[in-house]
Amino acid sequence: MSRINTRRSADAAVTRTAVDHAPAITFDRVNVAYGRGRGATRALIDFNLRVAPGETVALLGPSGSGKSTALKALAGFTRPASGAVRLGDTDVTDLPPAKRGIGVVVQSYALFPHMRVAENVAFGLRAHRVRRSEIGGRVSDALAMVGMSPYGKRFPRELSGGQQQRVAIARALAIRPRVLLLDEPLAALDAQLRQSMLTELQQLRAALPGTAMLYVTHDQSEALALADRIAVMRDARLVDVDTAENLWKRPPSSFTAAFLGGANLLPCTVTRVVGTSALVSVGGTPVTAQAPQPDIGRVDWESESGALLCVRPHAVDLVAPHERGALPARIVATVWRGSSTRLTVALVGLPESPIEVDVTGHDERAAGTEVGVRFPDRGAVLVPAPGSVS
Ligand code: ADP
Ligand code: MG
Repeated sequence: MSRINTRRSADAAVTRTAVDHAPAITFDRVNVAYGRGRGATRALIDFNLRVAPGETVALLGPSGSGKSTALKALAGFTRPASGAVRLGDTDVTDLPPAKRGIGVVVQSYALFPHMRVAENVAFGLRAHRVRRSEIGGRVSDALAMVGMSPYGKRFPRELSGGQQQRVAIARALAIRPRVLLLDEPLAALDAQLRQSMLTELQQLRAALPGTAMLYVTHDQSEALALADRIAVMRDARLVDVDTAENLWKRPPSSFTAAFLGGANLLPCTVTRVVGTSALVSVGGTPVTAQAPQPDIGRVDWESESGALLCVRPHAVDLVAPHERGALPARIVATVWRGSSTRLTVALVGLPESPIEVDVTGHDERAAGTEVGVRFPDRGAVLVPAPGSVS
């Protein structure tokens, strides 16, 4: 996976400098509302986002946060109340969907049930006025890309869910779009199939180095696996956008910390900051943490009254109780998950903020057992408390 990602980013960088500086996709202060007046739902508020040619950006957020609305605004299925969407240098806000040249794949496949696979793939080509003589070759190429060449004569009902989704992807690719939009394309598949389709999507992405992709998902593992950058959404707004690595290692907000990987967020008091290293107090015990300084003047941790300490469940060490420097704690619950065990642990003095801890193997310690909790070096990072940063 990392090999593909590295090559992919290099390709994207080359494309960016070689072609032009216009992003492949631009959302410029887009507002979308459903309904009118008091009963209206604001589904997208001042939404700004740019996707470079060849780049894959995941729109990640909980259900109802406005992800599909953003995609629909770009594809032309919904009209923004204000703002603009651009493809390259072209403002497409007022263009009908078929004139935008965008490939779209949705969760429910949306294949025509009465058409065979090849006809389904050819359908979009006709709508895009591709010459008749060219259609056969394009359909074969698109089906080959998704490993569906032998199935051209079948009807959608004769295919599994995963195969139907491959056909839907082939249909989107057949028009050779510069921009591909995928809206939760794996959500209807079972867990095992989702994993193998994810690998196929990674390969597809590597095979289309010039195509910009916007990938909507509520599943952080899909976003981490596929995206060059992740745009986190909440309540119709963009919360944070950055590379997966940056968002994971140094979450700019508590929402992103929790949504991307289920972080523990502990109330703490910042005692001292030296460079990017902080000494904090958690329930009276001193702990060292990273103090990110991403943007100049963004966060002054020492005067930050409500900083939170962000620790991933796998980055917590459970040690003997009363070990020097460890936070005294008690096990509240354990859930065996096969290769690991998830423990819920209450820190002494912070019973209202229990933390989740993942340990490898089968941990059979009973609820009530005393333990010590330690955050290894660089395992804890400061995150602004909600509402504390403008
Ligand atoms: P997501 O894709 O992140 O789950 P959506 O963009 O589908 O979110 O929806 C954002 C908000 O807009 C939600 O509150 C949803 O209920 C509302 N919404 C979406 N589509 C419509 C519609 N056609 N009519 C009215 N409200 C809608
Ligand atoms: Mg949606």
